[in-house]
Amino acid sequence: MATDYRPMWKSIGIDLKAHDQLLQALPPTYKDVYMDQENRPDGMEYFDFVINEIHGLRIQELQGHKAKGGKVIGAFCVFVPEEIVRAAGGICIGLCSGIKIGAAQAEKVLPRNICPLIKSFMGFKLAKVCPYFESCDMVVGETTCDGKKKAFEILHDYVPVHMMETPQMKREKDKSLWRSEVQDFLIRVEEFTGNKITFESLQRSVKEVNEKRKALLRMADLRKNNPAPISGKDSLLIEQIAMYDDVERFTAKVGELCNELENRVKEGKGVQGSDAPRIIVTGTPMAIPNWKVAHIIESSGAVIVAEELCTGLRYFENIVPENGENVNQMVSDIAGRYLSINCACFTPNEGRMEKLVQLAKEYKADGIIHCSLAFCDPYLVEANRVEKVLKENGIPLLKIETDYGQEDSGQLITRIEAFLEMIK
Ligand code: SF4
Ligand code: SF4
Repeated sequence: MATDYRPMWKSIGIDLKAHDQLLQALPPTYKDVYMDQENRPDGMEYFDFVINEIHGLRIQELQGHKAKGGKVIGAFCVFVPEEIVRAAGGICIGLCSGIKIGAAQAEKVLPRNICPLIKSFMGFKLAKVCPYFESCDMVVGETTCDGKKKAFEILHDYVPVHMMETPQMKREKDKSLWRSEVQDFLIRVEEFTGNKITFESLQRSVKEVNEKRKALLRMADLRKNNPAPISGKDSLLIEQIAMYDDVERFTAKVGELCNELENRVKEGKGVQGSDAPRIIVTGTPMAIPNWKVAHIIESSGAVIVAEELCTGLRYFENIVPENGENVNQMVSDIAGRYLSINCACFTPNEGRMEKLVQLAKEYKADGIIHCSLAFCDPYLVEANRVEKVLKENGIPLLKIETDYGQEDSGQLITRIEAFLEMIK
């Protein structure tokens, strides 16, 4: 018999009625997008289980951690150094905001026309439907884009928010600013958790998070093969789950899956035929359960081979050096690793352009789909730079602007099918 999690949800302040509506919306979507795929690796069973238990088992684990005096710290950006939270005995979770929820409540405190991701996180909090959000003792905000930066001021009315100032450029003085922000974050986390971060605890957490990133990198590498041994949709799901699952268990499960994928590659077994167009997706993060564009692309006969997204390569490429000799040096190494992320909030952001050209070659991509959320100025504007560089390099590009609604699905299908036809 399925466990009844309602008493737990109630005890953490969830609005059970609104939560029921959210859960009812999830399973059919998941079945349509995921369970009907052909040739799925057996190793996806664990990740299906995680989704099935999305508001159950993992929340129970977080509550168990809190009952023992542990802290849970939430983040909305891949700039927040998970290593530091773990080194102080905390659990760091990425909060999702990939679905339209609580929009009416969110619009009471935010403008109507704002990026869906920001509206979603405010909606989740105000509608009290996310047990992850309600489990957070603190949220870490950043100054990456203006909308988010100002929204965190409002969010602070409902949950303690620690702000990190992320620079907008990558000059030496920006590097020192960011390093000092990481150092301040360490002190704040120590105060908040009541636990001192030692050289040993930081070294251990750096290794653990590195192992997670290495497992994801191994999976990414396997997707360079033709036919691709796993679908882009499944890969995206794993990359989304990476943000909140138990680090060691997740790393082990991705490792097991990669063993299976390696065998598939040896046998020449793929999710699509070797003539399927190979696509790279780039742009704004696709937070769980935002699978719309990936689903349309793969249902149109293509295979996504890489995500140049924060729910993708930006999250796990580059690891923190493990040879730091003291806490100070490790803080600098952590800061350095995070500042290599190519977010569109930077100007200029040439690293992203170079990366896209390099990825297209490495993954033998036939084309790139640039997907921005509506009202996301950084990515919508930067799409012009991406277009220029890809054109110079002869890489076909399709630019899409969308949101969390399904109203534009028909139009997206037509445009994506035409693009795939063109690159064939
Ligand atoms: S796109 Fe930029 S702001 Fe958004 S999660 Fe990624 S790094 Fe953070
Ligand atoms: S999607 Fe764009 S506008 Fe929205 S929070 Fe991220 S960077 Fe800001």
